[in-house]
Amino acid sequence: MRLRNVKGAQEAIDKSPYVIHSPADWKGKWQEAFPSPAPLQIEIGMGKGRFLMEMAALHPDTNYIGIERYSSVLYRGLQKMEEEPVPNVFFLCEDATNLEEIFAPEEVDRIFLNFSDPWPKDRHAKRRLTSRFFLQKYEKFLSQDGLLEFKTDNTPLFDFSLEEFKEEGWQLLAFTYDLHHDSEMNRGNVMTEYEERFSAKGNPIHKLVAKRPAEGRQEENGQAGS
Ligand code: SAM
Repeated sequence: MRLRNVKGAQEAIDKSPYVIHSPADWKGKWQEAFPSPAPLQIEIGMGKGRFLMEMAALHPDTNYIGIERYSSVLYRGLQKMEEEPVPNVFFLCEDATNLEEIFAPEEVDRIFLNFSDPWPKDRHAKRRLTSRFFLQKYEKFLSQDGLLEFKTDNTPLFDFSLEEFKEEGWQLLAFTYDLHHDSEMNRGNVMTEYEERFSAKGNPIHKLVAKRPAEGRQEENGQAGS
């Protein structure tokens, strides 16, 4: 995503009622932040938030949190929200590395990663949001039956991700290299901004759905405390 310093973005975020400003204060209490308690789903790296807001409008019985680290990008989402507010969405201007401080164990029911930055250089692999470094973090706050859904058009990143999920003991429930021609996996698909842009160019979209490892897996493997 091209980044420009957008004038007034930080000020708008600071005073927006749609942004949670001290999210760690809500750790373990996210249900109380929303008008009604409901399963909590989050998108990490939501960009301008189109996917999240469309999901929220389609699923009023689910609560959503969109996480984006750049204020200039999040600001675009806020503008959309101001035009058409949805009650079951909040935004966080946060880096994904901080999420363990923000969500308590089992607090999140689903994680969406859409068109995450590929970080193609090997030495940056740890920064990929599907790297084992992040999977180990997600496992700490995703519910026992929680799912992670990942979409991208970047085949090397997708292949890397499949390996990382397997290595970390996640159960791959489904995956496809051509989502838009897979009638089962594409059912109910909500397109993201990047998805629309890349599929219009003819790029096939890849998607995987994975379930977090069972509790106690590390102890079973004799890795406890290591
Ligand atoms: N999900 C959107 C879509 O599919 O249209 C945006 C995709 S864009 C390529 C990736 C977004 O993830 C960018 O806005 C970027 O700032 C954000 N991002 C990347 N790494 C992040 C991190 N560690 N924490 C939070 N956001 C991140």
